[in-house]
Amino acid sequence: MINLSKMEAHHKRHQSAPDVARCPRCGTWSARNEIRSRWYWLPDLLRETIAEMLVGCYLCPTCPPGERWFALLPGEYDTPAQYAVSAQRLVVQMVQRYKMSMEAAAQFGREVLHLAMLDATTVLDWLREAGSLVDVQGRRRAAAAAFSGQMAVDEVYDGPWYQLKATDPLNDVELAWHVGEGAPTKDDIRRFFKELKAAGFSPTLVVTDGSDLYPEVIKEVWPEAEHQRCVFHFIKQINQDLGEAFWKLYETMPKPPKRLRGRPKKRGRPREDKGKRENRMTVRAARFLVLMRERRPDERRNRFGDAERTALNQAIALCPPLGVLRRFVVQLHELFGPTTDSHELAEKRRRAILDDEQFKGTPSLSKAVERLRNNDLFARLTRYLDFQNAEKTSNHVERENREFRKRQKGHYRFRSRCSLCALLDLLAARHPIPLEPVRLARKTSGTSAEEEVRRAA
Ligand SMILES: [Zn+2]
Repeated sequence: MINLSKMEAHHKRHQSAPDVARCPRCGTWSARNEIRSRWYWLPDLLRETIAEMLVGCYLCPTCPPGERWFALLPGEYDTPAQYAVSAQRLVVQMVQRYKMSMEAAAQFGREVLHLAMLDATTVLDWLREAGSLVDVQGRRRAAAAAFSGQMAVDEVYDGPWYQLKATDPLNDVELAWHVGEGAPTKDDIRRFFKELKAAGFSPTLVVTDGSDLYPEVIKEVWPEAEHQRCVFHFIKQINQDLGEAFWKLYETMPKPPKRLRGRPKKRGRPREDKGKRENRMTVRAARFLVLMRERRPDERRNRFGDAERTALNQAIALCPPLGVLRRFVVQLHELFGPTTDSHELAEKRRRAILDDEQFKGTPSLSKAVERLRNNDLFARLTRYLDFQNAEKTSNHVERENREFRKRQKGHYRFRSRCSLCALLDLLAARHPIPLEPVRLARKTSGTSAEEEVRRAA
């Protein structure tokens, strides 16, 4: 350890050394034996600050020899480290709550909190310590009691490891994680699910991506549970097909002839070529818009507004087959959007897509249409319609994992299993378990009867 007493900094002096103090073991009043000095870095926004703590040391008259000695350290200084407890807590929060990497947190400690010597290795030690203090079992019990009934599961790969994670998307709570080497097998998933089951979780609805690791194991561990395939992942997959379709349709546009070497001969031709080139550029620029969902009135984050609509219409006017592609996109989003509120309506809208003559007549769309034709898959994609408040994507757990991955990038030091686990515990404990949790609610038969009446009318 560095001798802080000689360090150039602002020095403060505190004393915690009354003449007598109670023994922490037996409570007997004990006389002070001596006063010792200990030095700590204090977090301070203005300057480097070191506190000298004058600590009273006592000898208990009744405890057996060898156990008599005790010191009177206030909580802020009750640490073997050379940093006050508040300094450690602030820096750990920078990682846990404000998502800094360890390096950034150490830098923040040095530059803002004026903890001059702080380095990333020390921050890692603190994170490990904080992670080991998380009451994992107690938290899991509380999460089981507050469980909504819907579980989101996802796997993420990082270097030599994979990580499984389960969350309660309706209550924004992380339920469990598992780290293993290589890639998860069905056995790994089974063990993970059984552990969750043993902890008291019996989900009504489990949402996962399209990986074939899950359906069989869900059925086995929780035979009562329904399986929701993540709609977001499905649409992402379809968008890839549609991206290919876009380029095929784009290639049907008239091309400007390849320019010959040398000086252009006639005056009229180049202008016409230029027009074709510009048209193609306009259409190319709109390629993302073709696949984008239009903004709903209540949405702010979606970029598709009036300007985008104009640009898209312009592109469709220049390359009319794109209109068919666009109509497919709109119908697809309608099918999985908020206005589809029953299985009947979902099926009607799916049929409209499958039976559409224009879609059938557009070969580049066939791959995307085929995906919708799979009955088992479609049933899994629309399980959420059985419920009033189910989450139809696994984005919740994805988001948690993405954040984890982002941390991993700057965190090569976490690549030891023990530090990784400490970080995962720390991250898992980030969101509080709600006191009034949301519960997954099945649609009552009354609602669907009402719907039937409404639809018949
Ligand atoms: Zn004692």
